[in-house]
Amino acid sequence: MDFVEHLKSQVDIVQTIQTYVKLRRVGRRYTGLCPFHSEKSPSFSVNGDLQFYHCFGCKAGGDVLKFIEQIEHVSFYEALKLLSERNGIPMPKRAEYADADSKLRGAIMTMHELAEQEFRELLSSPQGSDARGYITRRGVSPELIAQFGLGYSDRSGRSLVRAFDRHSFTSEQLDASGLVMKRENGGGYFDRFRGRLMFPIHNESGKVIGFGGRALEAEDNPKYLNSPETPIYKKSNVLYNLHRAKEGIRKHDRSILVEGYMDVIGVYSAGVTEVVASCGTALTNPQVRMLKRHSSNITVNFDPDAAGENAAERSIKLLLDESMHVRIMELDEDLDPDEYCKKHGAEAYEARVKAAKTYFYWLADRARAKYRRRRQKRASPFSSFCSLRFRDCPTNWSVPRSPTMSRVISGSAKGWFWKTSAKWL
Ligand SMILES: [Zn+2]
Repeated sequence: MDFVEHLKSQVDIVQTIQTYVKLRRVGRRYTGLCPFHSEKSPSFSVNGDLQFYHCFGCKAGGDVLKFIEQIEHVSFYEALKLLSERNGIPMPKRAEYADADSKLRGAIMTMHELAEQEFRELLSSPQGSDARGYITRRGVSPELIAQFGLGYSDRSGRSLVRAFDRHSFTSEQLDASGLVMKRENGGGYFDRFRGRLMFPIHNESGKVIGFGGRALEAEDNPKYLNSPETPIYKKSNVLYNLHRAKEGIRKHDRSILVEGYMDVIGVYSAGVTEVVASCGTALTNPQVRMLKRHSSNITVNFDPDAAGENAAERSIKLLLDESMHVRIMELDEDLDPDEYCKKHGAEAYEARVKAAKTYFYWLADRARAKYRRRRQKRASPFSSFCSLRFRDCPTNWSVPRSPTMSRVISGSAKGWFWKTSAKWL
């Protein structure tokens, strides 16, 4: 039997797709929200008997390999490799399916594995003492350091170049890796990350595809340096920690979105494992869809400063566009999620997650605060603020379902809302 057929006979399409999309059994089929287009009711269907999937909305469909190609944005060969590795089925050495792009991405993947290993070793070496000091002060235990694969890029700028020299990577592969850069005078390469605490960034399958590097000296700019876009790393398609968080997201039917790598580690170590962050960018539609595949509920917990508040507002707009059920969590004493978990412990954080306000109530509170400020200034009225914001609310959104509330949301009762808001806000 051909290896492709052999692999397909060994792998169950329902189980495979279930690790990416929440499926519900309906008779002999399984259905769920399509991961390939935005939708509110499920038109994505998986047939376990015939081993194929099909979306009645966007017409995506095919076998298990096609699904992996589509969802992981990889070639046929890479999908084959990924599925065989994941299921412990040895793949023949012949690389007959590998095209040039797959080979390039394969080499960059290998470089990232080598880099992660190198950074880890450097962290426990004498050069890594400052970085170790920093993470110890931030209360990260040795177990967490190992679990999150934290590392250190030394200041020499030669560590990765040396590690890569032991393998026969081509200059095209080195140029495309995002890990090393060409010297301007043409004399070889040097490491992109130098003197930084390194956070490996994984894809949904748990493979390292990029890094975030935090400066350790105040004069090193920028504070966070992230991998550039490469053939294996597209910022807008990646969420930090999703590969670890997805199990918790399904179990608790919610995800928690925080801003930074340290916040993720802090919240995760407090036992709230369903936590993710966007990697140094504003949240994007593809990222929201990645979360939605596992749960439609999300709690946004950004830093309590103005930047965090603005980021929260921008993210909420996107989340509502994708019909997510949004809750907003604000921590007092101006603590970020990591600091809050350290200071008050896991139970307190968990309690705050449970008590997070739905977007509706959070918005009402903010509206009230703004209204008060504006009234003092005799500026534009509360109603325009509210009517603007309520337009964003999707109709299936989890707010109290009274007829009056529906009218407020649909906009037909804005006048009433304005007049009586003071009473019930
Ligand atoms: Zn679809």
